[in-house]
Amino acid sequence: MIRDFKYLAPKTLKEALTLLDKYGEDCKVIGGGQSLLILMKQGLVAPEYLISIKGISELDYIEFDAKEGLRIGALTTHRAIEKSPVIQNGFRVLAEMETRLASIQTRNWGTIGGNLCHGDPAGDPAPVLMVLDATLKMAGLNGERAMPVEDFSLDYFETALEPGELLTGIQVPVPPPHTGSAYTKFNVIESDLATVGVAVSITLDSGGGVCRDVRIALGAAAPTPIRAKQAEDLLKGKKITDELLGEAGQIAFTEAEPVSDIYASEEYRRELVKILVKRVGKEALARAMQA
Ligand SMILES: Cc1cc2nc3c(=O)[nH]c(=O)nc-3n(C[C@H](O)[C@H](O)[C@H](O)COP(=O)(O)OP(=O)(O)OC[C@H]3O[C@@H](n4cnc5c(N)ncnc54)[C@H](O)[C@@H]3O)c2cc1C
Repeated sequence: MIRDFKYLAPKTLKEALTLLDKYGEDCKVIGGGQSLLILMKQGLVAPEYLISIKGISELDYIEFDAKEGLRIGALTTHRAIEKSPVIQNGFRVLAEMETRLASIQTRNWGTIGGNLCHGDPAGDPAPVLMVLDATLKMAGLNGERAMPVEDFSLDYFETALEPGELLTGIQVPVPPPHTGSAYTKFNVIESDLATVGVAVSITLDSGGGVCRDVRIALGAAAPTPIRAKQAEDLLKGKKITDELLGEAGQIAFTEAEPVSDIYASEEYRRELVKILVKRVGKEALARAMQA
């Protein structure tokens, strides 16, 4: 049962930050509530004040320009990202990832900011944003700051947000020419969290043969989403073949630090990393060759 709380619904970011500062540890922010309400129903979180930021329209936007790239407000729903023509055309992997995140009902309410702030290592958006080299924007009463998305998750369900701060937005640069990106997850229950998720982005040189840059990110394979940097190093500067991608998968297997739970054992997750890095790498490569 949910304990009684006082509900506050600020309409501006400034108002929300002022309330956060005033109520401190006695309050909790709620976006779409798709993750928080579960914790409240289980009695794991019982705030005295619930600050709903859902009505702050200045944090709900999808914008694009060639210089800044893509900007997504923290309160943008998963469904809005999935359906955005700008994202479908220029950042296809993001829209594709969203089609596999939860159900349409959850995507209609859940926000990208809430997903990242929840800090679940099995969340779908973080690995994709990591290979897209995204930056997160945060604000508190003392000002704004930004950090690469890969620095945001500190541990299981723990993020770099300071008390009194809100995540306000995400910025994704325009990918370099000849870049292809892909994501997939293996999950036991359709429309549920990843048992393991893998995102890969590959940039080829102008001749289209050699890998100029590569990013590989793993979800649900460690206490936080991680980059498989040794696997990336193997591919950089080389002509990527199936065999090389297989070797990269094998290296990523050793970089992962998964745990066993009711969905999969540690060993099974490592095997998934190995297989999915190769599979998703092939898809990203094919897209890079066509880009
Ligand atoms: C049935 C079901 C299936 C799901 N399947 C998936 C899945 O397949 N993949 C996946 O990735 N996720 C999945 N989820 C999780 C869920 O979709 C996301 O976590 C959701 O996006 C959370 O967003 P929200 O706005 O509802 O966050 P909320 O529940 O409102 O908040 C989550 C946390 O973030 C904090 N918070 C929210 N917004 C901000 C902000 N702007 N600044 C600072 N703190 C903030 C809250 O205080 C809270 O701690 C699933 C959830 C359900 C219920």
